[in-house]
Amino acid sequence: MSKKDYYEILGLPRNASKEDIKKAYRKLAMQYHPDRNPGNAEAEEKFKEIAEAYEVLSNDEKRSKYDQYGHSGLRGGTDFHEWSNVNDIFSHFSDIFGSAFGGSIFDDFFGTSTSQRTRQKTTGTPGSDLKVTLKLTLEEIATGTTKKIKIKKYNKCDICGGTGARTSSSFKTCPVCNGTGEVRQVSRSIFGQFVNISTCNNCGGTGKIINEPCAKCKGEGRVYEESTIKINVPAGVYNDSYMTLRGEGNAGKNGGAPGDIIVVFQELPHEHFTRDGDNVIYDLYISYPEAVLGTEVEVPTLTGRAKLKIEPGIQPGKFLKMREKGIQHLNSHGAGDQLVKVNIHVPKNVNAREKELLKELAKMPNIKPSN
Ligand SMILES: [Zn+2]
Ligand SMILES: [Zn+2]
Repeated sequence: MSKKDYYEILGLPRNASKEDIKKAYRKLAMQYHPDRNPGNAEAEEKFKEIAEAYEVLSNDEKRSKYDQYGHSGLRGGTDFHEWSNVNDIFSHFSDIFGSAFGGSIFDDFFGTSTSQRTRQKTTGTPGSDLKVTLKLTLEEIATGTTKKIKIKKYNKCDICGGTGARTSSSFKTCPVCNGTGEVRQVSRSIFGQFVNISTCNNCGGTGKIINEPCAKCKGEGRVYEESTIKINVPAGVYNDSYMTLRGEGNAGKNGGAPGDIIVVFQELPHEHFTRDGDNVIYDLYISYPEAVLGTEVEVPTLTGRAKLKIEPGIQPGKFLKMREKGIQHLNSHGAGDQLVKVNIHVPKNVNAREKELLKELAKMPNIKPSN
């Protein structure tokens, strides 16, 4: 955990806007990107430090905790990551690095795709990533859930095992590269002669091409079909946060590495509750006599109805805490609370008898406020 001031790391004042934070992060991340500083451990440390600062300051809740309590207000693993692998930083913050699904902004700068760099090197063309939006109720978020969804995607062909060939001998040597998998191009310039070696496009670098394609996938090595995906949603996820299912995206062509599925969580509005971090807030309405005399009410919770005692003389606007009746913390033990806000119901219409009683009541010495 870095003990340096997060604002200092990003070179920002404490009142920096969200946009300022994003901009500063993007700029510094470019500067200290490991591809630009190969073998420079100091730059890599700096890069991780910047990521940690950004992770906290870009999130309103974490930022306010940090503003109030400094580093001691934050919990490692929950509020920020201690990055060990710089590639994880890209996948975590891919939203800020441009198109999250596929390449990243670094592609333009460095000519490499981070998602491909992290993948194992295989032959064939890599499969693309898929994005799936998963709608979740607050109840599902509170305890975590397992969801099964059906999506259409490319799967590895089970007949040819992804090669695209009818049998293991249905290949011939690629005529373009003569089996080397590489194409050499010689170019001349005022600086001398250059040999440019690139992967053969005709065979995808394998040196072989399919003679007799597989009957099922027609030589692609993959088939487009409906698939059922199981998603284990941890408790406490936030709206618009996402998780990556590695290798579960589209299968690559001819045995290429599969893409990922990026599951974006969408929280559905709840009929009773509003969410505040891991707490849920419920608006309770009681009558004026109940507020004066006290009562016991039944309120909804995320796990069914529960009884709640109202003390005599309760004031409107007071919050009653139902401990651990909220949302389970993500990646740590315990849960948030249910906060019940006490409101007094003021009827808009009353009948003649009620009016009479209220007028009578209004004359009583303890009823009138002393202002
Ligand atoms: Zn096949
Ligand atoms: Zn070739």
